[in-house]
Amino acid sequence: MFENLSERLDKSFKLLKGQGKITEINVAETLKDIRRALLDADVNFKIAKKFTDDVKEKALGQEVLTAVKPGQLMVKIVKDELAMLMGGTFADIQLESKPAVILMSGLQGSGKTTFTGKLGNMLKTKKGKNPLLVAGDVYRPAAIDQLKVLGEQIGIPVYTEEGNMDPVKIAKAAIKLAKEKGHDVVIVDTAGRLAVDEQMMNEISAIKKAIDPDEILFVVDSMTGQDAVNTAKEFNDRLDFDGVVLTKLDGDTRGGAALSIRSVVEKPIKFVGTGEKVDALDVFHPDRMADRILG
Ligand code: GDP
Repeated sequence: MFENLSERLDKSFKLLKGQGKITEINVAETLKDIRRALLDADVNFKIAKKFTDDVKEKALGQEVLTAVKPGQLMVKIVKDELAMLMGGTFADIQLESKPAVILMSGLQGSGKTTFTGKLGNMLKTKKGKNPLLVAGDVYRPAAIDQLKVLGEQIGIPVYTEEGNMDPVKIAKAAIKLAKEKGHDVVIVDTAGRLAVDEQMMNEISAIKKAIDPDEILFVVDSMTGQDAVNTAKEFNDRLDFDGVVLTKLDGDTRGGAALSIRSVVEKPIKFVGTGEKVDALDVFHPDRMADRILG
């Protein structure tokens, strides 16, 4: 994950490390290298520029030029800025309501169904919750089967309605059942499409309106870089979601989505998917991710 970015950033500090006297030119070169590394990681141009401008301002403020260890100070400044770029602090999901209703959104193939299972499993095993999963992707029987198989694997019931093509009714019925049976969390999987389209947006907006979820999560494939960011913006404009789930961080993703999404949609990344298995899920801590990127 982010190997290339880590390597490039590491190299960019070389100029400031182990050098006798640091000049403004050295700092400017380093900033230029950092900006190039971010652009190569598929970070949007404006975000990369603002990032290096902010780092520069801090570097001046903290007097990098006269610091005893300018290289180390620069690394710290960049690390802090990376954490800020990704949201600063950890943002948890809202689970207070009984039941707490979580609605999934995102394109087909982003990893929604897999994440629905992963989240159910995490809430059950780590928070002692009693979740109910809801198969709301009514157009693809394979998606319903996939969720059923996942549910069996993790021992969590899956609500389905054979033949019912109305996800709004299914979601409402599932919440009613959850109340009767004492489930404290309901996770509603929904249909995605290969690209953003009006029908999908209308459908998910209708589900949102009908069930008034405590948490709407937008699931996105981190491998898709700036496309992920654009899709996030379109979904957020329509749904005003609460958090982002970045999937497939185990692949050779360059990092652009993780670094850009927060400042574009102003919503926190809450989880990251790190594999196909049901336990390959981490809560997202911006500072820890920044530590990993800068090693
Ligand atoms: P959906 O159409 O949004 O419901 O997407 P799926 O949950 O069916 O996932 C699409 C594909 O991505 C499946 O083959 C999943 O196994 C895979 N997948 C989902 N999350 C991850 C992840 O975090 N890492 C990897 N490597 N694969 C994932």
